Amino acid sequence: MKYAIVNDHIINREEAKVDIEDRGYQFGDGVYEVIRVYNGKMFTVKEHMERFVRSAESIGIKIPYASENITKMLEDLIEKDNLKLGIVYMQITRGAAPRNHAFPADDVVPVITAYTKEMPIPEANLQSGVKTILTEDIRWLRCDIKSLNLLGNILAKQKAAEQGCYEAIQHRGQDVTEGSSSNVYIVKNGTVITHESNNLILKGITKDVILKACAENEIPVEERTFSLEELAQADEVFLSSTTSEVTPIVVIDEKKVGTGSPGPITKKLQALFKQEIENQCGII
Ligand code: PLP
Repeated sequence: MKYAIVNDHIINREEAKVDIEDRGYQFGDGVYEVIRVYNGKMFTVKEHMERFVRSAESIGIKIPYASENITKMLEDLIEKDNLKLGIVYMQITRGAAPRNHAFPADDVVPVITAYTKEMPIPEANLQSGVKTILTEDIRWLRCDIKSLNLLGNILAKQKAAEQGCYEAIQHRGQDVTEGSSSNVYIVKNGTVITHESNNLILKGITKDVILKACAENEIPVEERTFSLEELAQADEVFLSSTTSEVTPIVVIDEKKVGTGSPGPITKKLQALFKQEIENQCGII
């Protein structure tokens, strides 16, 4: 899009430049957020801002602006770019300093950047579901931090892409963790089961919306580790993320999930999720 945020300014996209010694560029030393925009309004922006602050704090980055001020700037950016349907990408790095693994001196100022991107709702995937593969989770042990370091996730997603699949479902030994850029759920006998939000997965904002909808609609939930065996025996499987919403998984490693088409609980959760979007952002 035409504009970008760099620290506390909105400037032309072409004028936004990164220092070659920015620690985000050299070390992946920073954190990020992706926020959905429907009807020109940010969905669950408060929750995204809270996670942004939490991620930054957990690696010792102090965000130099109040969340409300950042939110206001993102709103201005969306308006300037005239974005109706898409995402805002935002990141903060520890700043630019002579290369050295240890943190730089306190006067090095973190660098925030953000920009928008148009993105349609993935209607075909929501309707028909997606194919996936299984892959060992090789990531570090702080997957709860939305870190710029995404090599493990990238390699998993690439493996899926090479096999014509949408997502890679990661597992640590026999335990299923999450997708390369999504949370994963199984449905068994009417109960939704998904990995507990601990250090091994990212606590998805979409996951929180889904679990709240389950609670309000008497859909039983178990937040616990589940095994590859349970995944293979599931009635339904789906994934969730800011960009993928509630996407049915219909194939895992070339084997059909359940009947091979999106199941009733997944469809119900899609409808409830859409309702929440409309509550916050209006009819889409
Ligand atoms: N897990 C991982 C590893 C992710 O990268 C993402 C989103 O990008 C998610 C889960 C889902 O998080 P959210 O629903 O906040 O988009």
